[in-house]
Amino acid sequence: MEERYKHLNNYLKEKFGERTLKICIDGNFTCPNRDGKLSLGGCIFCSEKGSGEHIKSNKNSSNNFDFITDQVKNYFNSYKSKRANKFIAYFQNFTNTYGPIDILKKKYDSALIDDRIVALAISTRPDCINEDICKLLKSYQNKYYVWVELGLQTSNDITSKLINKCCYSKDFTYAVNLLNKYNIDIVTHIMVCLPNENFNDIKNTVEFINKHFIQGLKIHSTYIVKNTILADMYSKGLYIPLTLEEYLNYTCYILTHISPNIVIHKVSGDAPKDLLVAPDWNLHKKWILNGLDKKLKAENLWQGKYYST
Ligand code: SF4
Repeated sequence: MEERYKHLNNYLKEKFGERTLKICIDGNFTCPNRDGKLSLGGCIFCSEKGSGEHIKSNKNSSNNFDFITDQVKNYFNSYKSKRANKFIAYFQNFTNTYGPIDILKKKYDSALIDDRIVALAISTRPDCINEDICKLLKSYQNKYYVWVELGLQTSNDITSKLINKCCYSKDFTYAVNLLNKYNIDIVTHIMVCLPNENFNDIKNTVEFINKHFIQGLKIHSTYIVKNTILADMYSKGLYIPLTLEEYLNYTCYILTHISPNIVIHKVSGDAPKDLLVAPDWNLHKKWILNGLDKKLKAENLWQGKYYST
């Protein structure tokens, strides 16, 4: 089938010669935006588990990092591991570079326990990247494909303040330059329809990303989960989520204006069913994927069609 944007699955298949799946890991990290270093509240949309709600981990299983190894072992003992032969250890919840270097190393090493693991992916905040962390991540590159996921969400610093991100576009640029220096791949997260944002913000965010050397992009719709400030705003009528049609329009804009070299890791958010407040369409990944494919085809659009440097 004709590929109108660079899908992650196809990219991984090409890179590793076969289907390669993620093992999502909760490394029991926290976040400087949650533990009081920068703030206690976190970003206004952040769920209690800091993403990765589906991950089951028993953090009290011992006083070392066996709980990480156990998550990987459990994955390999489950039916999920039968669907592929190659895997990515993906540290998902909260800020996975936030901690002393020796602890980070122990945590990552605790996941890399099986020869079928071919890649290490680390999700984090731009202000939690430094030279030592880059050196540590680089040290895994002789055996693993390594990528870092940086939450940008938006290039608009006024929005970043409004959503209490406590991290700004200059931090993103700094982190990207540092990771580029160490030749470590970067996947950027953006969120569509953050409070007070409109089409211009999407346009500016895409332009901003195109000025950086990144290798992957995750496009998320902004969804509302229980027990967040965003949920309060929604209940008071202070935040109105996008319709699916609007989201598809924005996503098409992003895809057609982003560099054609960037691998698209996601075009939807993974809203946890039991925690989702709105919008409902977020639960239907197929509606998003099929709707997007249909629109791209009908309007003869493809990734990078309107990209210009
Ligand atoms: S940076 Fe990530 S983990 Fe930290 S509060 Fe924001 S969304 Fe949550």
